[in-house]
Amino acid sequence: MADRLYYRDSFLYNFDAEVRSIMEGPRPALVLDRTAFYPASGGQLYDIGWIEPVESRSKSLDPSSKTKLRVLEVAEAENGEVVHYLEAPVKDLVAGTHVHGEIDVARRRGHMRQHSAQHVLSAAFVRLFNMPTVSFHMADAYCSIDLDTSSLSTEQVEAAERTANDIVLENRSVDIRFVTREEAVPLGLRKPPAAGRDELRLIDIHDFDLTACGGTHVNQTGQIGAILLRKTEKVRQGYRVEFVAGERALAAARCDFVTLTETASLFSAGIYDVPRQARKALDEIKSLLKQYEQTQEELAAAQAAAFLAESPETDGHKLIVQTFSNRDLNFLKLLAQKLTRQSTQVIALLATGSPQPVLVFAQSNGQPHDMRNLLKETVARLGGRGGGTKDLAQGGFADVAGLAAALEFAAEKVRQGD
Ligand SMILES: [Zn+2]
Repeated sequence: MADRLYYRDSFLYNFDAEVRSIMEGPRPALVLDRTAFYPASGGQLYDIGWIEPVESRSKSLDPSSKTKLRVLEVAEAENGEVVHYLEAPVKDLVAGTHVHGEIDVARRRGHMRQHSAQHVLSAAFVRLFNMPTVSFHMADAYCSIDLDTSSLSTEQVEAAERTANDIVLENRSVDIRFVTREEAVPLGLRKPPAAGRDELRLIDIHDFDLTACGGTHVNQTGQIGAILLRKTEKVRQGYRVEFVAGERALAAARCDFVTLTETASLFSAGIYDVPRQARKALDEIKSLLKQYEQTQEELAAAQAAAFLAESPETDGHKLIVQTFSNRDLNFLKLLAQKLTRQSTQVIALLATGSPQPVLVFAQSNGQPHDMRNLLKETVARLGGRGGGTKDLAQGGFADVAGLAAALEFAAEKVRQGD
């Protein structure tokens, strides 16, 4: 089994090793006798970086040398080996070749900050509110912990954030300790260690938290940087708390500020005035919408009355055929409703070309035609589809140019008593 160098030193970014085995195929990979690369486990994301044969390294001092093999992912195989997945197939490499490994430092440091922040935060929730962490998840932009609790208030979230940041500012030491299971019992670990190995690796945040963990951590809490708690949500087992630390906290705060500034400028307001301005604007929209609906009602009623007044009655019905521009489906339906309620003799064939081309056919209750069939036949001529009831039907279509002819076809069918 490979010696995991990061177990003892999270700050080891360069190391020498020997190739144990080479895996070819769609995902070429290497197994080494020792490695500082962290494989995805315990919630922490894997490292990426480079592996280079030592011989070619001594020949070429160029750091961008092509002999460097890019490590895209590191995972733990079922047999416990650490597998380094490479970008390209391996050439000129055999078991026993000496290689130099180099970890992507920025990514690793970020992971160390997030993971140590998680220990501090989980301990804060236990100390303040006795809320244990049941799982930890690390994504590329943020992390989250799931707390075993039936409730979580904003005040509790803010208190845990304050305590966690106090621990950061106190710059406490973070040590790695190895103990046996027996030795761990009286130490009071934050949570019972997972079953398995007899030797436990403990992360010891001085006088604050002691937890068995295989991850990589900072060695002083000050290196974590600010810890910001973000979204919280109810999940099956309790509450999920998202957080960001260090450079991610800075990026999140910057992004919040930019977003808020852009929103504030839309209102010509200061950023802290945005909620009040947004509420005011929404109230205005609501009130205008109400007024608009009222106006539409009044307009539809007035137009219905006018159409009825100017339409002659023939064979016991009034046929009203109207095409509108800039009236929507809702208005057409409203108008159809007003027409058929204001008179018992109406057959209304209504159309609009925009914003969406639609047809609404309606007849007063008791009129003998079948609006659904008539509409289906008419929209079919315009490459559209529709449906409805015997008295009210609607449909959409694409061919606006053919509208006049299609309406005339429908009107003619009505005249013929169809
Ligand atoms: Zn951990």
